[in-house]
Amino acid sequence: MSNKIIGIDLGGTTVKFAILTNEGEIQQKWSVLTDITDEGSHIVPAIIESINEQLERYHLSPNDFIGIGMGSPGTVDRTEGTVIGAYNLNWDKSQPVKQLIEEGTGISFAIDNDANVAALGERWKGAGENEEDIVFVTLGTGVGGGIIAGGRLIHGVAGAAGEIGHITVDPNGYKCTCGNIGCLETVASATGVVRLARDFSEVYAGDSKLKTAIDDGQLITAKDVFEFAKENDELAVRVIDKVAFYLGLACGNVANVLNPSTIVIGGGVSQAGAFLIDQIKTYFDQFTYPTIRKTTKIRLAELGNSAGVIGASSLIKKHKNGTL
Ligand code: ZN
Repeated sequence: MSNKIIGIDLGGTTVKFAILTNEGEIQQKWSVLTDITDEGSHIVPAIIESINEQLERYHLSPNDFIGIGMGSPGTVDRTEGTVIGAYNLNWDKSQPVKQLIEEGTGISFAIDNDANVAALGERWKGAGENEEDIVFVTLGTGVGGGIIAGGRLIHGVAGAAGEIGHITVDPNGYKCTCGNIGCLETVASATGVVRLARDFSEVYAGDSKLKTAIDDGQLITAKDVFEFAKENDELAVRVIDKVAFYLGLACGNVANVLNPSTIVIGGGVSQAGAFLIDQIKTYFDQFTYPTIRKTTKIRLAELGNSAGVIGASSLIKKHKNGTL
């Protein structure tokens, strides 16, 4: 009887795979490196080969699976199962991902945007506690987001909903990769935190290990800035306070509109943990009106790297239930 699902989290560095039960329990996990050469033309064939190898290893056949779910960067056409504009994969042109994977594995396939899929994962098995209204914000190289309202992922008219990273938080701020000025991503991504640290350092006159490191030409990371802030380095504390201000402002406005039960903060930068969440909450309370303040929580993501494969598998689960 077919009761297993394959979840795939396609990223610019690795492709993560998992075999899961219909209840979202991971039974097997593996990954392969993403080969983005030749316009990313090797990526889908490598995924097909890897799945078929694993099926053979565990003596499984396509009939054992309800389907394959995948989260992908770029603009995803969920109906056609295509991806375009995933520049970290070198996918400039439309890729017929669904067609190739279904032909190559004999298993039915569903796909959505990677941040949306991670939101589904955190909602189902992580900090979202399976509630109907969840917002997921991922702080990594960029800032991504996924919105679940009334139990449904919000896609918008062009599939671009949930792009929390492009909320304007400073109209006089830095230029964003999207072409606009002052998007959240320019100040709350890993590179954004470092950018703020460098700019604050230029005008900071006091004693600071962070400033010394920057002035010495050391290549500091967002993690370093958080570490210094935890040690009460005055400059680092100011930088993180500003990052928390921007996140509190953006999350507060999202919550004022959607009133989710939880805003889940994930991604590499969120490894700063409760230290970051507590500071975001301070500003979140400032920018939300009383009902929102009382009913919308801000919590750290719980699934780490597994959010993608778990959420991807839920595309199949939902698909089969006819609720997506
Ligand atoms: Zn932007």
